[in-house]
Amino acid sequence: MKTIACKFGGSSVADASQILKVKAIVDSDPARQYIVVSAPGKRSDDDQKITDLLLLAWETAQNKMDTGSILEVINKRYQEISKDLKLDYDLGPELKEIEKQLSTESSDYAASRGEYLNGKLIAELLGATFIDPAQVITIDQDGSLNEELTYPAVAKALNNNGRCVIPGFYGSDPTGKVKTFSRGGSDISGAIIARAVEADVYENWTDVSGLLMADPRIVPNPEPISEVSYTELRELSYMGAHVLHDEAIFPVKGLNIPVHIKNTNSPDDAGTSIVGKVKHRATPIVGLAGKKGFDAVFMQKILMNKEVGFIRRLLEIFESNGLSIEHLPSGIDTVSVIVRQKAFDAKRKKVLSEIEQTLKVDDLATYEGIALIAVVGAGMAYHPGIAATVFRSLSDEGINIRLIDQGASELNIILGVEEPDFNKAINAIYRAFIKT
Ligand code: ASP
Repeated sequence: MKTIACKFGGSSVADASQILKVKAIVDSDPARQYIVVSAPGKRSDDDQKITDLLLLAWETAQNKMDTGSILEVINKRYQEISKDLKLDYDLGPELKEIEKQLSTESSDYAASRGEYLNGKLIAELLGATFIDPAQVITIDQDGSLNEELTYPAVAKALNNNGRCVIPGFYGSDPTGKVKTFSRGGSDISGAIIARAVEADVYENWTDVSGLLMADPRIVPNPEPISEVSYTELRELSYMGAHVLHDEAIFPVKGLNIPVHIKNTNSPDDAGTSIVGKVKHRATPIVGLAGKKGFDAVFMQKILMNKEVGFIRRLLEIFESNGLSIEHLPSGIDTVSVIVRQKAFDAKRKKVLSEIEQTLKVDDLATYEGIALIAVVGAGMAYHPGIAATVFRSLSDEGINIRLIDQGASELNIILGVEEPDFNKAINAIYRAFIKT
């Protein structure tokens, strides 16, 4: 039988009416056996996430201040959900226990209780088995998943237990203490469950109908993306398009389990499938994304290309200053180092003087306020003229391209433009590929 692991995000489980949508989705397909849930998220823009409230309560308890009013808000929220779902489940003892542990337990323990309580309620509503991830998911001290311990333990706990509800976001460290992933980590939990049970699909239910080809705040009504590969998604999300936690792809990638992004509020929408390899695509690009806030450190030196070790010494300067390099476009006797402006600002003077002294360059300049745009699509490699289309669309708009970097995989072309040209450039490239 087909098996589906589903993860429902914070907005999908924010209150009883949302949770009833979850129930309808789960009930509509018996293959939906493994249900991973987040803590209740925001019900409106000015609402608070339960996870944030729990962390606030923990901090307050650590400072030996009164947590009463914060816990009251948390309690009320769960009691309301339970009452609206007409559940005969007394959360009182659980809430008391959490209150008791706040001053002695870790912040991870506190943060994890949002998922724990929601998991209990949703398991009750669905008549499913509750599985506590602290018993089966092991997260090493450095925050990475302990695969050898986790996958067999999860598979054993879930097999032959019927429909199971598993709270997302946490597991335990090797000593058995509750440990969370980074924020938004229920996406990772869902992927781990999918991998452990070798699910046919990992459905990630959220409040948007998948990914769009461009940021809708920049391009009006961009086309949805129906299929994107794991690697294309990585390129798009590095550049700011975000639907899934960055680390959520790793568990499913090895087994080629597709991730299907779906909208809880509009379950019939097609959504986006994230797959190992895209079979067919109507356009040569899958999407474009971009970010502002970069600086380019440009240098030129006669016969640079013949100087053995030049790039290594250059990289060492950035490394010893703790700066991560984003891109490194190079010419014959020129190279630019692209860094994040925020991190570079504090080290600028030191780095520039080290470059001058160590590398004896002929020309050294910094261009500030660069916006990077990634045009992404695996098909680009097989399509002559993609680069020409991109460059023509920008020149038609009079936009100056400050740098170009085409990845070795030909999965993307990265362009740098001046920040004031950013929105105009994204629109120009989008329109060059998608005719409206
Ligand atoms: N509740 C956690 C957070 O707010 C984890 C999640 O929702 O994925 O980050």
